[in-house]
Amino acid sequence: MAIPDSHDKIIWLHQQAPGKPALGQPCNGCGTCCATEPCPMAIVFLWQRRGRCRALEWDEAVSLYRCGMLRRPEYYVRTLPHFFRHIMRRLVKRWIAADTACDTPDEENNA
Ligand code: SF4
Ligand code: SF4
Repeated sequence: MAIPDSHDKIIWLHQQAPGKPALGQPCNGCGTCCATEPCPMAIVFLWQRRGRCRALEWDEAVSLYRCGMLRRPEYYVRTLPHFFRHIMRRLVKRWIAADTACDTPDEENNA
């Protein structure tokens, strides 16, 4: 499914992905934010400044997008020491405010 954002940029989302909720509503894993641009964490750890975040993962089992940096940070940051993985997940969860409200402006949802 291709969705133009407010700047006429096309982002690709799985056709089973849920529609983006309104700003402030609970995050439903629609993937719109991370398919549009990388978050600060992706910029720092993945050295990705624009475009779809390469850590955005489609979870077939639940038909939602998930943050790969949260699920398996060691896959994306190969140099991550084993002892640091658990700490990294906790930090990531906090940085991206996982399981909280959608903070992506509604104009990025034209579905
Ligand atoms: S923060 Fe919003 S746009 Fe991003 S995945 Fe959650 S619901 Fe979708
Ligand atoms: S690192 Fe995770 S939260 Fe950040 S843009 Fe990538 S998939 Fe989204």
